[in-house]
Amino acid sequence: MKKSRRLYEPNPADDLRKVGVRTAAVHAGTPAHALTGASAPDIVMSTTFVIDPSVPFSADEINDETPFTYTRWGNPTIRQLERKLAVLEGAEEAVAFGSGVAAIAALFLTTLKGGDHLVMSDVTYAAASEFANQKLPNLGIAVTRVDTSDPENVRAALRPETRLVYLETPVNPLLRLTDVEAVVKIAHEAGVPVSVDSTFATPIGLRPVELGADYVVQSLTKYICGHGDAIGGAVIGRGEELNKLRTMAIHMGGIISPFNAWLIMRGLATLPLRMAAHQETALAVAKHLEGHPKITRVVYPGLPSHPQHELARRQMQNFSGMLTFQVQDGAAAARLLSDRLQLIHYAVSLGHNRSLVCYLSTDDLLRSSFHLTPEQERSYRAFAGDGVFRLSVGLEDAADLIADLDQALAPL
Ligand SMILES: *Cc1c(COP(=O)(O)O)cnc(C)c1O
Repeated sequence: MKKSRRLYEPNPADDLRKVGVRTAAVHAGTPAHALTGASAPDIVMSTTFVIDPSVPFSADEINDETPFTYTRWGNPTIRQLERKLAVLEGAEEAVAFGSGVAAIAALFLTTLKGGDHLVMSDVTYAAASEFANQKLPNLGIAVTRVDTSDPENVRAALRPETRLVYLETPVNPLLRLTDVEAVVKIAHEAGVPVSVDSTFATPIGLRPVELGADYVVQSLTKYICGHGDAIGGAVIGRGEELNKLRTMAIHMGGIISPFNAWLIMRGLATLPLRMAAHQETALAVAKHLEGHPKITRVVYPGLPSHPQHELARRQMQNFSGMLTFQVQDGAAAARLLSDRLQLIHYAVSLGHNRSLVCYLSTDDLLRSSFHLTPEQERSYRAFAGDGVFRLSVGLEDAADLIADLDQALAPL
């Protein structure tokens, strides 16, 4: 039996400098199968692979040339997803994880050790905030949370032992933005790498690596899968650093199922088209809600009313499908929406084909996930007031979404 084989060869779409993003989304990492000629990617569910006795078993010795051996160390389907992600981010390498949070935990534990210091956005995806606030200090890692929408706050927080600056833009749930290039400049002057959770923007809206960032975090569960049926995550960046993350993935074990990798890869092929539609529909819904008599505030990076609209236009190629809106009595409106919406689901998560909405009370979030200074709280409330409805605008017709929201909010 032939023991080691490459199941596919690199193809011309594996370089974003040579092909457009739509071509890369379809072809990168997924040429026809070298052995069977299958045109569409297949799912390799096998956990183990027939090997030559000389193949190394230690995570530290596994590299690109090592044949597939065991799926926790590497799997053809997962590898194809990772190639596609790396190409779309304009980066060298990607490592997939079982969830976005697994990717974030692996990033922290790979880049930080006892005695190190982390500078992190004061607001991030809640689980990332809670992990940094509650778990990292137990490991002797100091954490400073700053409002990164002002890059000077990052400069002021840097210390000699700072080893990572962790950003998220647009940030969940505020849709506040961070100027990635400006923060990268400040951090790199001090020799500190920068990570950007770019889940809301996707590589269609923002490519942090091209702006100088060292790591990109993606929750694949959201837009990249796009259909609400598979959880996954990834860290994307330079080969050398990503090898350390792969070792961490092998040791922590939080890998993605090949089946989920296949579903997410299938979603990824249409990401550029879906993001164009998400943006178009979100802008129409945002404009309508801005004119709605009961709605006091709409925040969407694509609206001129967004306080950082100028930065959004400069930094983002697509404004995505996430918007927030506010009303006088959020709790009452939440009840109305969950009882009366007919198309839009009242549910957490985002980036799906189906529109999703949920209410996020400022007091609740500040108590549970974010522990802000008075100044940081002012910045938070400037975007979120007493609470926001986070609306993930799906792929339905804008007119139907608008009608659904209007009828649900009518008794307000
Ligand atoms: C959902 C999300 C995560 C976490 O991803 P999971 O796949 O749910 O673990 C991280 N960051 C952002 C911005 C998210 O929206």
